[in-house]
Order: sequence, then C-alpha cells, then structure tokens
Amino acid sequence: MKKICTILLALLFFTAIANSDENGLDRAKNARLQARSLATGQSDLSRNCYIPTFAEEKEPDETEVFFFRQQEVEVPIIMYHLVTDRPKFIGKHGITPQELEKDLTFLREAGYNTIVMQDLINFVERGKKLPKNPIVLTFDDGNFSDYSYLFPLLQENKQRAVVAIIGEATDRCTNLAETHKKLPNLTWPQVKELHDSGLVEIQNHGYNVHGKGGSGKKRGESADAYHNRLTEDLTKLQEACEAHLGWQPTTFVYPLGVIGEGSREIIEAMGMAATLGCEEGINTVRQGDRDCLFKMRRINRPSGKSLESILEKWKK
Ligand SMILES: [Zn+2]
Repeated sequence: MKKICTILLALLFFTAIANSDENGLDRAKNARLQARSLATGQSDLSRNCYIPTFAEEKEPDETEVFFFRQQEVEVPIIMYHLVTDRPKFIGKHGITPQELEKDLTFLREAGYNTIVMQDLINFVERGKKLPKNPIVLTFDDGNFSDYSYLFPLLQENKQRAVVAIIGEATDRCTNLAETHKKLPNLTWPQVKELHDSGLVEIQNHGYNVHGKGGSGKKRGESADAYHNRLTEDLTKLQEACEAHLGWQPTTFVYPLGVIGEGSREIIEAMGMAATLGCEEGINTVRQGDRDCLFKMRRINRPSGKSLESILEKWKK
C-alpha cells in the first residue's frame, strides 16, 4: 500500500511539472508571436493603420492609439495684420481691438486650441501629438498692435500666436525708440518680451524684401542673383533673431504672398521647415509628409465679419 501511494504521489508531481512547463512554453510562444505581430504591424491595434517608420517596436499604449488616429489633421491658419481703432486702417487687413478680443473668446469657448508653427513641424517631422481642434493665428509685419492689443489678450486667454516680423522695420523702430513715443512696429526689446513669454512664436517675414515687391524673383534677374539676394536678406533676419532672442525662426512667411521660383530650396537651406503664403484654404497636415508644410494656406481675417462665420465658410 505504501508503495502504491509513493507511485501515485510521484505521478502527480511529474504531471504538475509537465503542465507548468507547457504553460511556460505557451507564454513564451505568445510573447514571440506578439513581438512579431508588432514588428510587422499586424497587431489588432495597428491593422489598417499607418505605421510610422520612426515608431519603436514596443507594447502599444494610449499615446500610440492617439498617435495612429492623428496621422492627418485639418488645420486652419488665420492671417491677421493690423489691430487698430483708426477707421482709415480698418478693412481687409485691419481689424478693431474689439474684433480681436471676440475672436479669441470665440476660439476658447468653441474648443479650438491655438498652436504655433513649431507644433506643426514637430507633428510632421517627429510624430508629436497635436491638441484637438488645432488652429494657428498669424500676425504679419510685427506691428506695434501685436504688443499693445494682442499680447495682453493672449495672456488673459492663455492662447498662442505667431508673429512674423520684418527685420528692417524692427531695427528702425528700435533705433527710434529713444526719441519717438509712437512707433508703428515692434522694437527688439518688445519682440524679446513676446518671445520670452512662450505665448508668441517669432517667425521670418524677410529683412528688407517686404517693401520691394516681396521675395519673388525680379524681372531679368538670374537664378544665381536671386538665390544670393534672397539668401542674404533672409539670413540677416535669422542672425538678428539669434542675436536678440537666442532663437532662429523655423518658418518663412512670404511677404505679400509672392512665392519666388526656387525659393523653397533657399529657405530650406537656411534650416527653416515651413512657409506660409496668402492663398486661402484649410491645410491638411500629414505626419511624415514634409511637403505639406510648404506654401501653407491662410485664411484672411478682414473687419466686419465674425471669425466664426469665416471658419464656417471654409469647413468641409
Ligand atoms: Zn507683410
């Protein structure tokens, strides 16, 4: 009897070991299969999804779910110029301070999230996330109203904007600041204050090509001469920004919307990753597609309409 009991106990012991080995093997096999399916993009999560080349092979998490869903985003970019209460400047390129305040309040209440150009560049080039309902607010020329009207409203609403400055105007106003109280454009200390706040992203609107018909190629100008002239002008503002702000603009905002042939190569060679034009429309921004950051469309915001009605018109 004692012998039979010993045999039975031994049988039970070996069966238990065999089962545990089997479970262990199953786990290892499952892990291998899971790893292979992730590497080849055949997991349940990634099936039918875009697989970014820079994604790491790892267990998918919530961030990646968001990432996959966000491979393509519609982004409106609004084009503002002057904010003024002087009637003769109010119109296609000038709005009142009250209109600007209403715009920012509307955007906040409607759930729009104001982002800047670097957010779009990071989304396209590095796969970084964007908030829901992103929108870019751009202010051309570096008018003083960016400091007097826009800046306090951004602080109040915790919103962000892009200000594209003209290098020559910024230098001129900085030099006149000691002798003149009212200046049309920003000075470098004001530009720095905007930049340092983190609410305003400073971008390049040319050093001195703005008042000279924009950054297009002149009639009869050779490709080489155009290349050198534009490179010199834009570099001058890039270097001034580096010196005053410790930041080099990443976007060129075409003055007057004039897009010169071959200008993209010149702009890219300077390290900028995006350009903004004046053609109207909403942009489709895609991860991994650097082309979609060039000649981006903007929607002009004239006086006399609500931003809500303008956006409604462009929504698909
Ligand atoms: Zn301009």
